[in-house]
Amino acid sequence: MKLFGALEAGGTKMVCAIGDENGNILERISIPTGTPEDTMPPMIDFFKSKGICALGVGCFGPIDLDKKSETYGYITTTPKLAWANYPIVAEFEKALGVPVGFDTDVNAAALGEATWGCTQDVENSIYITIGTGIGVGVINNGKPHHGMIHPEGGHILLARHPEDPMDRGVCPYHPNCLEGFASGPSVEKRWGKKGIELSDRPEVWELEAFYLGQAICNYIMILSPQRIIVGGGVMHQPQMLGLIREEVKKQVAGYIQGKGMEDLENYIVGVSLNDNQGAMGAVKLAMEALAEKENKA
Ligand code: ADP
Ligand code: ZN
Repeated sequence: MKLFGALEAGGTKMVCAIGDENGNILERISIPTGTPEDTMPPMIDFFKSKGICALGVGCFGPIDLDKKSETYGYITTTPKLAWANYPIVAEFEKALGVPVGFDTDVNAAALGEATWGCTQDVENSIYITIGTGIGVGVINNGKPHHGMIHPEGGHILLARHPEDPMDRGVCPYHPNCLEGFASGPSVEKRWGKKGIELSDRPEVWELEAFYLGQAICNYIMILSPQRIIVGGGVMHQPQMLGLIREEVKKQVAGYIQGKGMEDLENYIVGVSLNDNQGAMGAVKLAMEALAEKENKA
């Protein structure tokens, strides 16, 4: 059996997993994210001891995904300063001697769902995570979408709700972006308590759905996804999916009819892989990196 390494590289933790060709996750460890000097050696030791034939990395960004670029495989201008301009792909290739696949954390999660989860039956889908930050992975014709860099769908600009108790969102770059208005930390800043302690306050989640509905309406108009997955810590509020569907219907305002809009329960859905979608997507990235190497040989 071929084994693949999978790394979900996050700002607080690095989740290192081993998977097989069917996306089964066989084991995993979590290492707190420190500096590259602290954090790379234990990750390398873990993957080295498992006999993997390729590694896939789903990484916080921004990152350079352009294979023609001199800084391909780098974490670029991240606010996590110890990792800024760090050549994470080259460092793993050098240390492990196996091909390394690379994409954003959210593109990896979108790919995991598209390969083994609830978007297997469509070619175009998006995966939105609403947690400490907000990210959007985009699958376009079966492949994670890249462009100038990669989508940064958490930072799309939105109209502020006129009755929002906050004058501006919490994003240091943008006074009115989705992440600034609707991430977990923005909920906490606005209402003075963590999201988990606000379950019984309907106004909290109505405002949250107002922003997410607006964002999803924009994603629908621009990308025309065939299905939309919404995950992340904030979606542990069970009422959110229903509220988001209602807002999307309201904000699309009848302009698009038929298909997904008539069947929102199957169009806007929760995650389907028990929070393994990121690791499984990284396994798929590893499998693709191996296939690419074998095709070249
Ligand atoms: P991360 O984005 O750091 O990878 P998560 O996706 O778990 O992690 O998101 C963490 C965020 O989700 C935190 O801001 C936290 O307050 C929020 N969160 C976690 N659980 C809940 C919950 N049950 N209700 C609302 N918000 C929650
Ligand atoms: Zn922003």
